[in-house]
Amino acid sequence: MTEDAPDHELMERVVNLCKRRGLVFPSAEIYGGFRSTYDYGPLGVLMLRNVKDAWWRSMVQLRDDVVGLDAAILSSPKIWEASGHLANFTDPLVDCRSCHERWRADKIEGRCPNCGSTDLTEPRAFNLMFKTYAGPVEEDATVAYLRPETAQGMFVNFLNVLQTSRKKPPFGIAQVGKSFRNEITPQNFVFRTREFEQMEMEYFVPPDEADKWFEYWLDERMRWYLDLGIPAERLRLRHHEAGELSHYSAATADVEFLFPWGWDELEGIANRTDYDLKAHAEHSGEKLEYFDQATGERYVPYVIEPAAGATRTMMAFLIAAYGEDEVGGEKRSVLHLHPRLAPHQMAVLPLSKNDALVPLSREVLALLQPLGMCDFDVTQSIGRRYRRQDEVGTPYCVTVDFDSLEDRAVTVRDRDTTEQARVPIDRLAEELRGRLAR
Ligand code: ATP
Repeated sequence: MTEDAPDHELMERVVNLCKRRGLVFPSAEIYGGFRSTYDYGPLGVLMLRNVKDAWWRSMVQLRDDVVGLDAAILSSPKIWEASGHLANFTDPLVDCRSCHERWRADKIEGRCPNCGSTDLTEPRAFNLMFKTYAGPVEEDATVAYLRPETAQGMFVNFLNVLQTSRKKPPFGIAQVGKSFRNEITPQNFVFRTREFEQMEMEYFVPPDEADKWFEYWLDERMRWYLDLGIPAERLRLRHHEAGELSHYSAATADVEFLFPWGWDELEGIANRTDYDLKAHAEHSGEKLEYFDQATGERYVPYVIEPAAGATRTMMAFLIAAYGEDEVGGEKRSVLHLHPRLAPHQMAVLPLSKNDALVPLSREVLALLQPLGMCDFDVTQSIGRRYRRQDEVGTPYCVTVDFDSLEDRAVTVRDRDTTEQARVPIDRLAEELRGRLAR
């Protein structure tokens, strides 16, 4: 695929695979679906969880300067007043006077994508926050909003975390969770939906170190995608022009992925300055600052924020991993997913349905389950079962055959090379642990 030739077929194949193999279903399908919402099926929920875990592992587990948080989705509307979302979190909405479709003006270049008309209304600001009522009375005083980003949870808990975690700048607060935006035109499968999951981290630093840490996080975040298997030629950093910056940002760069329709954003990394802490300090009357006991210095930290989308990133991993090749003269489709991201890490496949193989196969399954998610499949020919596993990215298949009953050894097959190796059951867990840890 090249930049000039968007690969719509690839997109279609990945979307079909997601439906056919239980990764992602259109939501409420028996009722005809519901406006670009999606449900994650048995394999999709595993993979989405793996994407979030891989992020958490890199951002929290492998560091000593970042702690976690899980803030409420429904919270005080005062947060959104202070953060500027009530006033500014808008997209420019236009109506087509010809077919009456509505569009986001900055995405359509003056022409209605539905009917081609250029007779559009003037853009007007449309606020993307979902509004609801907290409690049984529907009146202005009970209006609440579903959070449109997870970030504000970190800012309003800044003092709580500072006091309880004993961290000092530079330190970060990380959160993974659902966010909601009433997008004017949700599109491209799970790329842009109204309900989605974010993985965000606010990294609080001394103001004079902000530029350094901004650069640091650009490198760290690019490396995360590359380490998990996105090819370098499908990934780039794009720095925002001054006119494109959000109201709170001194510098922003997007991590972009080459999607089938072209380059598009996976993650935004921003220097949010002291905008949010100062805004919440002003609106709440609390002092949101750091007091350095060693130097006697008091300051409002600057914030570097890497903000990624979990659902959008899962889609990028699927697109990057999708391949077709030939094995033994037969075509197969395969997801070359990093073992940490694949829905199942292993599959145990008794060679045949013969009852004699069941007890040992179940013993092998129980041995491997603590290492990761393990599928267990006894139906169809072994060749077809290998291809079913390849198609959903299972890195290793473990086959129990009749010789296994004699020599207590099994065959381990590698998804990418299709190479097979005989491994004694005694050493199987150790062998697979090693292979999966790459
Ligand atoms: P866009 O310009 O695409 O609307 P944004 O710049 O407003 O996105 P941010 O506010 O920076 O997005 O959100 C951080 C990340 O959250 C995005 O990079 C993306 O991965 C994810 N994200 C944002 N909106 C959506 C959405 N509607 N559906 C899925 N993921 C989203």
